[in-house]
Formats: sequence, C-alpha cells, structure tokens
Amino acid sequence: MPNDQLMEQVKSQMPAKRWSHTLGVMESACILAERFGADREKAELAALLHDYCKYWPVNKQKQALLDHDAAGDLLDYEAALWHGPAAAVVLPAETGVTDAEVLDAVRWHTSGREQMTLLDKIVCLADYIEPNRDFPGVNKIRQLAEHSLEKALVAGFDSTISFLLEKGQPIYPLTVLSRNALLHD
Ligand code: GDP
Ligand code: FE
Ligand code: FE
Ligand code: FE
Repeated sequence: MPNDQLMEQVKSQMPAKRWSHTLGVMESACILAERFGADREKAELAALLHDYCKYWPVNKQKQALLDHDAAGDLLDYEAALWHGPAAAVVLPAETGVTDAEVLDAVRWHTSGREQMTLLDKIVCLADYIEPNRDFPGVNKIRQLAEHSLEKALVAGFDSTISFLLEKGQPIYPLTVLSRNALLHD
C-alpha cells in the first residue's frame, strides 16, 4: 500500500464518490497486475494517482498543461481528456512521485496510446472494470479481462467510442489509434 500521507493527499483532491472509485481502481489494478505479470506496486500507485486532477477546475488543468508544455493537441478536444496528462505533469512536484512508468500510465489512462505498456493497459482497464463501475457492457469487459488484457481493453474503448458517437461528440484520434493497435497486440 502507498503510505497514508499520500493516500490522504489524493483523497483531499476529490469528492467521496471519486475516492471510492480510486480505491476500486487500486483493487482491480492489483488483481490485473498479479494476473498478467506486472509490477503490483507500480500498478497500485498509478491507480491511486490516475484521477488526481479529475476534480480540479478545468482552467487549472489547462494551465498545468500549458505551464509544462504538455498541451499538445489536447486543448482542441474534450476537457474530459485533460485530467490524466495534467496529473502526470503536476504529480512530481505535488507528491514526489517521479517514476516514468507510473506517470505514463497516469498520463494515458483515458485516451490510451499507440504502444501501450503492460502498466498502461492495466491502469486503463482497471479504470473501466473496478467494482463500483456500472455501465452497459461492463460485465462483458470483466469477463474478457479474466483472460485477455487486450480484448478487454478493445471492448472498453469500443464502449467509449460508441457512447461518444451516440452523443454526437468528437472522438480523440489517439483513442482510435490505441484501439486499433490493441487489435494486433
Ligand atoms: P474517469 O476519469 O474514471 O471517469 O474515466 P476516464 O478517465 O477513462 O474517462 C473520462 C471521460 O472522457 C469519459 O467519460 C469519456 O467518455 C470521456 N471522453 C471524451 N472524449 C473522449 C475520447 O475521445 N476518448 C476517450 N477515451 N474518452 C473520451
Ligand atoms: Fe480518469
Ligand atoms: Fe478510462
Ligand atoms: Fe478513473
């Protein structure tokens, strides 16, 4: 377990419901790490930190990205995509966590990326299937996750993409690239 002080600091960034989600992602990330042979400590730490900036005002998220030259094309897309990349740039100074693999898993947990690492996949999938999650198709994704990280993640991205299509919202190109790359992994 990450130390109590770090746990408290993350908890203080978010409402109670988001903290329960975070604890759920930690639990699922540990299970997936054991199942698929990833570093359990890193998976648990990345899961703890993944939504650190989720409830920051969007302007603060945006400013963090700009201050660290990390905005890329993100500001042209939904603000819902900003919190992972924002967390990855603020966490070293805010928490002392500097592990690049952990920060990458945090950075890419919403969109995915073309060459997802084992840790990236575990955190992104844990975010979809943690016990508090309830959306159409989540049980199918949980079933797929028993055997295949990649098949489960493709199903996760498919559900997000379908949801965005239905709402007439833009789809971040990297999400499509991530999904396509996972088909070959
Ligand atoms: P959460 O932070 O635990 O709620 O989960 P995520 O970080 O995975 O998701 C954040 C939100 O981003 C979801 O509600 C998605 O619907 C939304 N979103 C908006 N545009 C996109 C997109 O192009 N790709 C992805 N993957 N998510 C998007
Ligand atoms: Fe998130
Ligand atoms: Fe996600
Ligand atoms: Fe999350």
